[in-house]
Amino acid sequence: VRRIRTAAIVAVGSELLTPTRMDTNSLLVTGRLNALGVDVVHKAVVGDEVSAVALAMREGLARADLVVCSGGLGPTTDDVTREAAADVVARPLQEDPAITARIRERFTRRGMEMPESNRRQAMVPAGGIIVPNEVGTAPGIWLTVDDRVLLLLPGPPRELEPMLAAVAAGLLRERAEGIVLKRRVVRITGRTESHADQALQPLYREWATQSIPIEATILAAMGQIELHLSARAAAEPLADAALESAAQRVVGVLARDVYSVDGAPLERVVGAELTRRTLTIAVAESCTGGLLTSRLTDVPGSSRYVLEAAVVYDNAAKTSRLGIDPALIEAHGAVSEPVARAMAEHMRQLSGADLGVGITGIAGPDGGSEEKPVGTVAVAVAAMGETRVRTFRFVGDRLMVKFQASQAALDMVRRLLLGP
Ligand code: ATP
Ligand code: MG
Repeated sequence: VRRIRTAAIVAVGSELLTPTRMDTNSLLVTGRLNALGVDVVHKAVVGDEVSAVALAMREGLARADLVVCSGGLGPTTDDVTREAAADVVARPLQEDPAITARIRERFTRRGMEMPESNRRQAMVPAGGIIVPNEVGTAPGIWLTVDDRVLLLLPGPPRELEPMLAAVAAGLLRERAEGIVLKRRVVRITGRTESHADQALQPLYREWATQSIPIEATILAAMGQIELHLSARAAAEPLADAALESAAQRVVGVLARDVYSVDGAPLERVVGAELTRRTLTIAVAESCTGGLLTSRLTDVPGSSRYVLEAAVVYDNAAKTSRLGIDPALIEAHGAVSEPVARAMAEHMRQLSGADLGVGITGIAGPDGGSEEKPVGTVAVAVAAMGETRVRTFRFVGDRLMVKFQASQAALDMVRRLLLGP
């Protein structure tokens, strides 16, 4: 068998061709393969049909050294990956009695009798190497086809993942190049994609010519920019060191606009800083409906710094819960900097937290005006001796506006904690 440098992925499952399910297994597979220096050059999603699966396998084998298939290894007749593989490698399917015995035992342990249909899962194209499945019934199968490899894995991600790890540590590692490909995500706020890209041009040029070159791709995600860095090296520590130094160079150029160099989300970065300084936070949310609080509390250990939150959606609630003067709302409108400021300051006082946050805005699609269009959001952060307040104009639908508002609030907290 030749060295495995490239791979194709075939995701099998008719449900993956509907609007309700998405192929995510290929992302897990890609991550594992990349770690071994194997590039994914092609992906296909096909329905549960023998000829379609066989065709996709053949195309994959024509394009790459390794084809990884996920799904269609179940016991029912709509699971056809085994049949398709047998056709592609032109070898008969044979029942492996050891697999049948294992499956039968799994059922017995649960006090059940194995349905005869499960014997299908013990059918292996002649010459196939079995990849044990510790979590489910269907084993994986590693097949060599001429000088290439066809690997079949089950569809459920919780079964696929450990099997993939085992293959990556064993059969695959032996046949891969011995080069690792590692990736890093640097996350940035407060700049546009093109502005960041322009500022980073000198680094790109330098990275292209160094001994371990860094490849960089910049992506605009909602409320932030991501810089994806990748490095290939003979060993993992070398790739990691090259990525770490590249990430630090990015910080050198973009300074505090970089909020994480290891892909950590903003709520985790803010949480870590609050923890480090033993500060507490309380939140008053209007248009975000609790999203900011939800994100803050997604982080394990957030009970150390999140004291309380209020969703004060209606104007009356802003008054009854937070004691905001109705005249203030009347004078400036609920979506205004004075009201955001009052929400943050009152929340801070009422809760006794070190920091108070107020968010008020128009998520849309209705409720906008000439002066305050949909997407207008005022955010305030109150701390001891200082309240910062800003008005944003976000674009996008309701959920996008809510997310960007929560993102902006987290970023204002982060920057306030960093100091002047
Ligand atoms: P089973 O024995 O469970 O039938 P299988 O190998 O036949 O295993 P499928 O029937 O294709 O696998 O899929 C089982 C489950 O795994 C389904 O819920 C399916 O949505 C999920 N799944 C399958 N393929 C993928 C994929 N590419 N990405 C994410 N989930 C997937
Ligand atoms: Mg199935």
